[in-house]
Amino acid sequence: MNYVFNPAPPVSVPVLGSSAQFPVHRIYCVGRNYEEHAKEMGFSGREAPFFFMKPADAVVVVNAGETAALPYPSLTKNLHHEIELVVAIGKGGKNIRAADAQQHVFGYAVGLDMTRRDLQNEMKKQGRPWSIGKGFDHSAPIGVITPAAASGNIAAAEISLQVNGSDRQRSSVSKLIWNIAEVIEHLSAAWELQPGDLIYTGTPEGVAAVVPGDTLLGAVTGLESIRLSVK
Ligand code: MN
Repeated sequence: MNYVFNPAPPVSVPVLGSSAQFPVHRIYCVGRNYEEHAKEMGFSGREAPFFFMKPADAVVVVNAGETAALPYPSLTKNLHHEIELVVAIGKGGKNIRAADAQQHVFGYAVGLDMTRRDLQNEMKKQGRPWSIGKGFDHSAPIGVITPAAASGNIAAAEISLQVNGSDRQRSSVSKLIWNIAEVIEHLSAAWELQPGDLIYTGTPEGVAAVVPGDTLLGAVTGLESIRLSVK
C-alpha cells in the first residue's frame, strides 16, 4: 500500500504477562457513572448511561513501576483527574446482552479520564460538544492491561487516586451505577464494538485539579497501578 505520507503508528498498551501489545481501536467513556460523582457535578438520580469518546492517540501508556510524564494541556486553568476502571474489549459485537458481555472482555486496566473542566463546563453551558474538554492530546493515561482471568473480583475492587501522597478519590467498583456488563450492553447497541476498544467506565467522587509538579498515583485492586507526573 502506498500512502501520501507515513500513517501514524498504531497505538497500543502493554499486557501483563505477555510480550504482545493490546492494539487500541477506539476509546469510549461513560459519563456520571458513580452516584456521588454525579451529585458533585450537580446531578442526581439514575439516568440512562451516556457516552463520549476520546481519540485513540490520546493514550498515555504508563508502564509498571515507571512514572510517566503527563504534559499540562493548553487552554485550561482547571485540569481535573478522574480515576477510572478501563475495560479492554477483546471480541467485538453489536447488541451484546449483559449476560454475554463477559466473553467480550479481554482485560482491565487503571486509567485516567483527564478533563479540562473549565472548557467542559463552558461547552455544557452553551450546549456544545465536550470534545475540547475531554478529547485533547494526552487525555487518556492508561496502565498495563491485566487479562480478565488474572484480575480477581474486579466488580468489587477498590479504586483510588492519590495526588502527592494524599487521597483525592477512593471508592469501589461495586458502586458503578451501570456495571461493566450493562455498560457493554448499552454501548454495543449504539456502536458495534471492535477488538481493541477501550471503555473508561466513569469516575467516583473527589475529582479536583492538578498542576505542574503534581504526582498522581492511581490504583484498582488486582491491577497494575499507574504513576504520572504533571509537567
Ligand atoms: Mn470520566
